[in-house]
Amino acid sequence: MIFIEKSIKSLFIFFCVALVIIISYLVYIQVYLGESLANDSRNRRVAQKESNFIRGRILDRNGEILAETNDEKERIYPRGDLFAHVIGYVDSIYGKSGLEAHFDGELLGLKGTKFHTRLLDRFFKRPTIGNDLVLTLDARLQQVAYDALGDNKGAVVAINPKSGEILACVSKPGFDPNILQDEWSRLLKSDDAPFLNRATQGLYPPGSSIKPVVAAAALENKVITDSDRFLCDGREIINGYEITCVEKEKHGEINLIQAMALSCNITFASIGASIGETRFYEYIKGFMLLDTFELPIPVKAGRLPPGGAERADLIENSIGQGKVLATPLHMALIASTFANNGVMMKPRLVSSVRSREGRRITSYPSEVLNAPVAPDVARKISEMMIEVVRYGTGKRAQIDGIIVAGKTGTAENPGGGDHAWFIGFAPAGNPEIAVAVVVENGGYGGVLAAPIGRKVIIKALSL
Ligand SMILES: [Zn+2]
Repeated sequence: MIFIEKSIKSLFIFFCVALVIIISYLVYIQVYLGESLANDSRNRRVAQKESNFIRGRILDRNGEILAETNDEKERIYPRGDLFAHVIGYVDSIYGKSGLEAHFDGELLGLKGTKFHTRLLDRFFKRPTIGNDLVLTLDARLQQVAYDALGDNKGAVVAINPKSGEILACVSKPGFDPNILQDEWSRLLKSDDAPFLNRATQGLYPPGSSIKPVVAAAALENKVITDSDRFLCDGREIINGYEITCVEKEKHGEINLIQAMALSCNITFASIGASIGETRFYEYIKGFMLLDTFELPIPVKAGRLPPGGAERADLIENSIGQGKVLATPLHMALIASTFANNGVMMKPRLVSSVRSREGRRITSYPSEVLNAPVAPDVARKISEMMIEVVRYGTGKRAQIDGIIVAGKTGTAENPGGGDHAWFIGFAPAGNPEIAVAVVVENGGYGGVLAAPIGRKVIIKALSL
């Protein structure tokens, strides 16, 4: 009898210990591993479980709804193709892309939602309401940039130079995520690459829009001074490499400001040759041309093969041809760095994740990314960029009553017509907006790209 009682007692203790172990393990899985398991793409239960969630909304900076899930559990994008490259899509066949993919856990409420809320939702068998994503983009500015680009292929990026907030990010052509399944095969077959986000993944030679960086590198390293004069005969052989000036111009004797305003290739090629390859590379790197910025959507790093390049490459690169490549995002950041006294802010697309009730779960504050050039040099370059718009190649970006700083670019493209560029910012004294525009095969940058930049600047300053 005593033996049986002892056995029951041992068994009881054994079960108690086992129960504690099981409970601890379950809590561990739910609380500590829950988030990582939920976000593991190998977890097939996530797809099945999505019916237990109401996906959160995606909002612009003013609370306008850019993506939401309706009562039929369909994902709706009220602005059609306007934000497609940034927001991406959620589709039962084609999966997820863009911010929808990157913030999947937050939008489903698996990340950032309190444990007890999820537990109560499960207990009452009610769906978990996901978190909302608040973007830095402004739908009003996005629309103006989209309209200004017209039927051209290309991209526009607009940034607040003081905060790094991306206010507009447009790429054309695009796609409408509301009708993805109907359109998929046509989109995939298209030669125009409509899924490519040209704003962050389109690599283009920057053409003359790189010249502010070259001038900054030369002034900061005292390779030249601002009182130096240069001679342009329209054609010159520099280090054995023959170079012709823009539009077959002969600019004669000019200073650096005039060389920038008129976009003189001969001056900038000779400046580039004196900067030298190593320093040129350092400045390209300092202006973050080779970076991807940890943005939550895919970004392609710009390109400049380091070292060992031919002398001719350096000369070509100094006028934005040759082997240097950049995305419109990179060029917008270069403009915003000169606008912000030489300080580059980290670009941001998302300002916060909030619960449906408006409780702030995660915020993404502004951060300094780099300071590639001294404030006094940045100001000198800004002065030159003002002259570009006042009387030079960027005249078509002029705005009544507002001083605009800018630089145009016409990038030779071995695959077809020249790409047209404009980068700029305004008001020059206290910049609120910096832009980059590229129009594929758009020809002369001052003609086609500058007026697009102008429209975006006017709208940004009216908001
Ligand atoms: Zn010239």
